Amino acid sequence: MRSKKESLKYFLQKAKRGKWAIGQFNFSTSEQLKAIISAAEKAKAPVILGTSGGEVKFFGLKKAIILRNYYRKIFPYIYLNLDHGRDIALIKKAIDMGYDCVHFDGGDLSLKQNIETAKKIVQYAHQRGVLVEGEIKSIKGSSETHKKKFKAKESFYEDIEKAKKFVQATGVDSLAINIGNVHGTYKNKIRLNIDLLKKINKELNVFLVLHGGSGTNDNDIKKAIKNGVVKININTELREVWKKSMLKHLKKQTIKPYKILPFVIKDIQDKVEEKIKLSGTNC
Ligand SMILES: [Zn+2]
Repeated sequence: MRSKKESLKYFLQKAKRGKWAIGQFNFSTSEQLKAIISAAEKAKAPVILGTSGGEVKFFGLKKAIILRNYYRKIFPYIYLNLDHGRDIALIKKAIDMGYDCVHFDGGDLSLKQNIETAKKIVQYAHQRGVLVEGEIKSIKGSSETHKKKFKAKESFYEDIEKAKKFVQATGVDSLAINIGNVHGTYKNKIRLNIDLLKKINKELNVFLVLHGGSGTNDNDIKKAIKNGVVKININTELREVWKKSMLKHLKKQTIKPYKILPFVIKDIQDKVEEKIKLSGTNC
């Protein structure tokens, strides 16, 4: 049995008080996972391991749990989150199998439907000691390298009154917010609406999550953390490093995976360490 001081909630509360954030780094291969954990261990920083629907379908829920448990013997502060869960059966399965947190993405539903479903998930999860992240307005983009520019429209931004209603009615632990953030990287660096974030932080008593942390202006990330964001999701930048590094090192003469993959792992690890440093994460 893990102690309270080892729980994800403990670190999210600690991050809120200390004005730093925990990174969620997504993975779909064992090499990415090893890289993320090596970075966490080196920086002595808690990390959340994210698996989206597509990632977990490829990697497997059970394998993710088994490897988390294995790596916890090396570094205890690692947590699994089901990222953008839309399939209720999959969300329940992740909770039953021992995920630490599930993100229910009801962004495409009406507010009423979203509240009703989120409420049920929260009840189910909390009985089993699992945290729930909610989402009201779908966050734009996809975790890819986009060749165009992105500019957030007014209509993309979070509606504070709706968010208040959602948080109060559902009891979610955290909320994925829209403050100009977008999934993926674009030709321009993404800028965040910090004034809007300040208002959200004042009005809502919930852990605030920034999705689409890749390709965002570093100063804006720092300001977001100073103004209440306690979890930052990074996926695209890690995928980009993975692909670039694979292509580069596959050019080597050798065909031995164990001579190629350590370079790839190291490159991903460096990127994760950079993000941990930017977020000021500590134990
Ligand atoms: Zn996301």
